[in-house]
Amino acid sequence: MTAQAVETGDLVAVIGLEVHVQLETATKIFCGCSTDAAEEPNTNTCPVCLGLPGALPVLNEGAVEAAVKVGKAIDATIPEDTRFHRKNYYYPDLPKNFQITQYDAPICQDGELEFSVGGDRRTVAIRRAHLEEDPGSIKHVRKGREDIETRTCSIDRADYTLVDYNRAGTPLMEVVTEPDFRDPEEVRAFLEKLEEVLEYLGVFDPTRDGSLRIDANLSMVPAEEVGDDGDIDEAVLEDANRTEVKNISSHKGAEKALSFERSRQKKLIESGQAVEQETRHFNETHGNTVSMRSKEEEKDYRYFQEADLPPLQVAGWKDEIAIPELPDARRERFQREYDLSEEAASKLTSTKQVADFFEDVAEAYDPALAATWVADNLLGELNYRDIEITEIEGRLDEVTRLIELVAADEITAKNAHETVLRRMLDEGNDPDAIVEAEGLGKTGEDEIAAAVTEAIDENPDAVADYHDGEGGAINFLVGQVMQKTGGSADPGDVNELLRAELDG
Ligand code: ADP
Ligand code: MG
Ligand code: ZN
Repeated sequence: MTAQAVETGDLVAVIGLEVHVQLETATKIFCGCSTDAAEEPNTNTCPVCLGLPGALPVLNEGAVEAAVKVGKAIDATIPEDTRFHRKNYYYPDLPKNFQITQYDAPICQDGELEFSVGGDRRTVAIRRAHLEEDPGSIKHVRKGREDIETRTCSIDRADYTLVDYNRAGTPLMEVVTEPDFRDPEEVRAFLEKLEEVLEYLGVFDPTRDGSLRIDANLSMVPAEEVGDDGDIDEAVLEDANRTEVKNISSHKGAEKALSFERSRQKKLIESGQAVEQETRHFNETHGNTVSMRSKEEEKDYRYFQEADLPPLQVAGWKDEIAIPELPDARRERFQREYDLSEEAASKLTSTKQVADFFEDVAEAYDPALAATWVADNLLGELNYRDIEITEIEGRLDEVTRLIELVAADEITAKNAHETVLRRMLDEGNDPDAIVEAEGLGKTGEDEIAAAVTEAIDENPDAVADYHDGEGGAINFLVGQVMQKTGGSADPGDVNELLRAELDG
């Protein structure tokens, strides 16, 4: 190793992303076929999405609306006119032999997204976000096993390949960032934020298989090329040999693939070898990347304007289409309006559904009670069980009912959380049934008063200790009353009643 090579220890990773996001529309982008994924293969198809000769595309207005919403959310420029191009390449999942996409006039340009990572706020510039159609999906299969799902394998081990055109024509948005990331951890935080925003907009379903697919570009640049403001000269970026890692389908996967790629390139450079400019494939199981092909260039695709779709005038759309309050704004408002900590407000705005639920409860009862119940109790128990709030969507009314029982002082907060909520989640019963079965209804005042008198009569020693100023005595007496009432009295109330009786 030369002295020069040893000094290259100070290398900085430069990362830019191309994120493919499926937009949630009922029908495909250029035909009326359903985008429903849960169908038999090749049933949601028609001459347009099968690419049959002579079939003509008709643009889905809903997809354009969704794209405009994304553009507004990332503060992008939406041009007067936008148009579509054909990107020509041959692959079995692309029956027309070209993909309809956007080229020189994408629907969104020059946006940005702000996010938090490790306590810092970061902003990454978004170069463009354009509309295109998803290709079909393919499965490489090995012979001789029971069902298709367990027979899929990598292409080099396959006996044959199946193609399914149900996905072909699903509207996609490709979001292309500037190479502004310096660390794989930032990428993960960005992707989380992007998904959150898309979900808030109601244009994206994260639970759908393959709804977010990432190509990640990484190069290593000498640290001294990074300016004080973190910027790197265009020419340096242009010259740096970068790899593009394909086939990443999760936030965690992106972080893993890029960490691997960063050390791989660093090792090459430090040992005096060149990084090949190439496309690499991320192997999720092995956590590594392998070379796929030399990087294709723009001219390979022979882009030309899509003659079957006229240019689209979208000048007025930005003003006409409204978007909901986004996570950052909502978090800040929650802090102000409900007097919440940043941590609580962040938890409560983590998804739109959580935020909506919190606001419903806060309005009906009390913001502080709502915050404890939604941010701590509910999300805590769901998290412990690895359940998403969307999975109990139909049962949120029951959670509201439980909070109502606490607010009305009909059961103790402790019983409501530790017994009723947990049983609701584990056993599926509704709160009233659990309260009834467990006898958790708060004991009536008379009964508590009787238990207080009894406890005092039965424990003269503890009473004497109390009057001698011994701190533990009151706790002992509270315990006695709790026992007599089967734990359904409120310990704070009992404490007060006892003191009133003893001091009176
Ligand atoms: P191409 O046309 O070859 O795909 P682009 O300039 O369109 O290249 O950029 C594609 C992606 O590569 C973008 O996300 C961009 O941020 C990223 N990128 C550009 N230069 C670099 C670099 N030096 N290192 C890492 N990523 C980069
Ligand atoms: Mg590209
Ligand atoms: Zn179709």
